Amino acid sequence: MVQWRNEFEQQIFEVTHDRLRCTQLKTIQINLGFRCNQTCIHCHIHASPNRSEMMTESTMQAVLSATSKLPPVLIDITGGAPELHPSLQKFLAQFVNQGHRIQVRTNLTLLIQPKYQKLPKVFKDLGVELVASLPCYLEEKVRLQRGEDVFTKSIEALHVLNTLGYGTTSELPLTLVFNPLEPVLPPEQSSLEQSYREELGEKYGIQFTRLFTITNMPLGRFLDVLKDQKPKYIALLKQSFNPQTLPSLMCHHQVNIGWDGTLYDCDFNLAAGLPVSSKVPQQVNQFDPVALSTREIVTGEHCFGCTAGHGSSCGGALI
Ligand code: SF4
Ligand code: SF4
Repeated sequence: MVQWRNEFEQQIFEVTHDRLRCTQLKTIQINLGFRCNQTCIHCHIHASPNRSEMMTESTMQAVLSATSKLPPVLIDITGGAPELHPSLQKFLAQFVNQGHRIQVRTNLTLLIQPKYQKLPKVFKDLGVELVASLPCYLEEKVRLQRGEDVFTKSIEALHVLNTLGYGTTSELPLTLVFNPLEPVLPPEQSSLEQSYREELGEKYGIQFTRLFTITNMPLGRFLDVLKDQKPKYIALLKQSFNPQTLPSLMCHHQVNIGWDGTLYDCDFNLAAGLPVSSKVPQQVNQFDPVALSTREIVTGEHCFGCTAGHGSSCGGALI
């Protein structure tokens, strides 16, 4: 008889008659560390300027050795704020040499600070795609979620990126990311994208390629901020379970490498402290593409955040 490790796993089995599994490695997500210049209330990993966790040079070499074994994949660089890593540029250049497609997740605001102003041009020259957090087109909402002046700085950075060709040319995609401020599910992605286009275009002359809506996961600082609303939010995620999202879950096709070289099924499992199954090597210096691309996925209650409503992933809505 099948033993359930949690309610999510049971729910998956009722629909698919199987556990959740990886089927192919198409994306390698790399978390460079938890340092960030911001302290957003929806952050699932408690990133802040006070965090010191950062990937070492030797772990970076182990990551490059792992990705050298792979056919072209999407390298998805995240954090914290990846821009704060002093070896970011060198790291990205080596993925380019290996023939991989690269995207960097940016909170935008660092890109206009004098020390990091050169980065947009560096990204452009390396052909790096950008995924930028802008959780609303309204200044007041961004201020509440991400802090004073974040909206103004983000708009300034978006102007810089548009001028370089990001979001205005097909070679330099610029994706914006929405997260709800309240403990609710995101609105439908394509209609919200239309509203973003109208508001950002008309008020600020900003262009972008596409919008991702991401559900806030019940993890990290967002979970802390929920306080006594946590049971209600978890219940909402569970009640909104949508089986149609299952074929597109991002853990079917990716692995996440944490700042210390530990392997996870996704960045949310990293935040939850759940490494990949112990049936496969769990450290990047033992990276085994064959074992990883057929591994069983480790799940938890937070996984209901990926299957609620239209579904959610680091690549936006699932349906
Ligand atoms: S959500 Fe992103 S920008 Fe905000 S604190 Fe977390 S890592 Fe930094
Ligand atoms: S939280 Fe991670 S492991 Fe869970 S369903 Fe989402 S992508 Fe898969």
